[in-house]
Amino acid sequence: MKEKLKKSKTLRRNILIGSGIALLAATTFFASVYSRGKNEYSKEYQTITNELIQKNYTTLSDKKINVIEWDLFHDGSAFALPTPFVKTLGVSTKVRNYNDDAIKGLLAHELAHFENNQKKNVFYFIRWMFDKDVKAEYERTADERVIEMGLGKYLLESVEADIKLGTKKSLEERYSSGGYLSREKIKNKINNLNINSN
Ligand SMILES: [Zn+2]
Repeated sequence: MKEKLKKSKTLRRNILIGSGIALLAATTFFASVYSRGKNEYSKEYQTITNELIQKNYTTLSDKKINVIEWDLFHDGSAFALPTPFVKTLGVSTKVRNYNDDAIKGLLAHELAHFENNQKKNVFYFIRWMFDKDVKAEYERTADERVIEMGLGKYLLESVEADIKLGTKKSLEERYSSGGYLSREKIKNKINNLNINSN
């Protein structure tokens, strides 16, 4: 009995030490990514992001969204990490070659994710990990939100930039997933919006 108690104590201690090491490793990793990712480019993206929040995404005005440049990530152009306290918006180094309108469109798409995510819970993200249709819907609704907000022309610029500068694999994924809107669909939706608002 005593032996068993001792064993479970050791096990608990090992789990605790293991979790501590894992947490430390994750923190060190993110700290290094963050310190490298905070530079003159991320500052510019942060300014555009803050302006978009103020003018368009007002539901996010009380959220802290931290923009970093993420050089470990080349296939896509940006991502929205829905962590609970400080939200991270990562932008690929290839976006340095995008024009101002394309950058605005890209950031608007990511902010639409953060906005839509406010209505989602952890179970949604578990489904998101395994279900292609959920992923497709996740991207489509973000693109649609950007257009709804009158920022469709910037979204179109960002898609043009992706096509010009993206890797072939990322483009194939972009359109085969059925999620992201193609240039034609974006143009149609912008036209429909203009017809309806006139
Ligand atoms: Zn997206």
